[in-house]
Amino acid sequence: MAVSAGEARTLLESMEMEAQRALKERPSLSIRTRISLGFLLWFLLSLGITIASFVTLNRIQSKLLFMEGASNYTFEIQQARRFEKNYFLYGTNLSDALEHVRQAQNILTTEGDNMAAVVGVSHYQTMVRHLERYRELLIRLQDLDREHPGAKPGQNQTIEVELRRHGAEMVAVAEELVSGQRQAVNTMLLMAQRIPIIFLFVLLLLMIYLANFLTRQMLRRLNWLMEATRRIADGDLTPITPRRRYRDEFSELAMAMNHMMYQLAQRNELLVRAHKLKAVGTLTAGVAHELNNPINNIMLTISMILEDYKGLSDEDRLEMLRDIMGQTERCDKIVRNLLDFARESELKTQLFQIKDIINETVQLASNQIKLSKVKVRIDFAPNLPPIRGDRQQLAQVFLNLVLNALDAMPEGGNLSISTGHAKEENCLKVEFTDTGLGIPEHILPNIFDPFFTTKSIGKGTGLGLSVSLGIIRKHGGDVHVKSSVNQGSTFEVLLPIAQIPAKVSGDM
Ligand code: ADP
Repeated sequence: MAVSAGEARTLLESMEMEAQRALKERPSLSIRTRISLGFLLWFLLSLGITIASFVTLNRIQSKLLFMEGASNYTFEIQQARRFEKNYFLYGTNLSDALEHVRQAQNILTTEGDNMAAVVGVSHYQTMVRHLERYRELLIRLQDLDREHPGAKPGQNQTIEVELRRHGAEMVAVAEELVSGQRQAVNTMLLMAQRIPIIFLFVLLLLMIYLANFLTRQMLRRLNWLMEATRRIADGDLTPITPRRRYRDEFSELAMAMNHMMYQLAQRNELLVRAHKLKAVGTLTAGVAHELNNPINNIMLTISMILEDYKGLSDEDRLEMLRDIMGQTERCDKIVRNLLDFARESELKTQLFQIKDIINETVQLASNQIKLSKVKVRIDFAPNLPPIRGDRQQLAQVFLNLVLNALDAMPEGGNLSISTGHAKEENCLKVEFTDTGLGIPEHILPNIFDPFFTTKSIGKGTGLGLSVSLGIIRKHGGDVHVKSSVNQGSTFEVLLPIAQIPAKVSGDM
């Protein structure tokens, strides 16, 4: 599809706008937010673990306090029961037993909240009820003793049975609760041991996720952007389009790169246009200059004939007409060269060895070589594969390069022509190295421009290299130049070898 420069610019602009819009319109989820979320999650996890440890340790502490209270309580009850037994066996008084019951009640009151919280309110109330009932029975016994002194303790059978039952139950309940709480404390201690291990495991998972995130999200995308910069360096200025669902800092970078590519493309275009204008300028000036001289000469000769037609001898007239003919031929040659340059002439291709045309070329230029006092050295690499191309046009290219080299060595010198495999894949190279004047750096970019010449009028047309480059490019090859002033120049011609389908226009 052919597009004009204006259309190309609009296309580029709309591509850039489209890519920027697509990059911008995605929901935003920045890397900073993701990393902050990761840290927040980490913090919440640590907070949760700390709270869990704190609660567990607190509960263990309450249970230990309960166990301490419960064992004091059990001790007081057992003491009370010992004095109760003494009363029944030896008739001692019950005030010591009551004193221990009071102590036990004290413990239940002071530790009441903690005990109720640890064993539950109903268990606690059962303990209080048992103790209260036990105390009531002891007081009743004491009252009975006071009312009937000297009566045998065994006479209050019913009270004794109930007293023993309550006493035994009180001890059993307390012991049962203590052993239950001991088990609970053991379980909690086990949990307190496991919590850090679980925490470490979750932390490990979190770290694996973070490492994965960093490598996948950051490194891969950095690589991807590096690839993009490489492709930009190779001249591909297609805008970067979004690949992910969310917009982040990399999207901002991609947008900045798209803008940079757009600016680069615009500047490139300006450069190309400036270069084209310069080439057109050189071309026009060259054509005008080249044609101006012979046309002037023709006009001058014709006006001389017109002025003094009768006074001229037949021989003079013939001479002048021959002169006009010569000048016209010069015009014709210039126009033909120009056409050669402009026309996409067809290639008549065939398979051949590159050394054959080089030999032919040197043969063609043998007269000029002899006159120029230049020594030519030819160096063919052995067993080179054949190439496919237009023999005549390639001979024209090589002849041009040989003649240019001779022109560059007016005092004589060495011209070496060599063939070999190029470093470019599947290409042969032919090198023309002279020891001539060399090409100044500032004109090096212009030597392939049509009509660019440093040679005197009539000697150079400035079309040789531009036509040669056109021919080589049509064969799918290229021409490279290296040169240093007063040391010489090397022109390297690259041509694809025949096994590869050559990128040529025409019938190849
Ligand atoms: P022309 O030979 O008619 O000037 P070309 O296109 O063949 O046109 O060459 C353009 C210019 O390149 C020459 O005028 C010359 O300045 C420079 N040039 C080409 N070949 C050489 C060379 N081997 N050594 C030095 N300068 C060269």
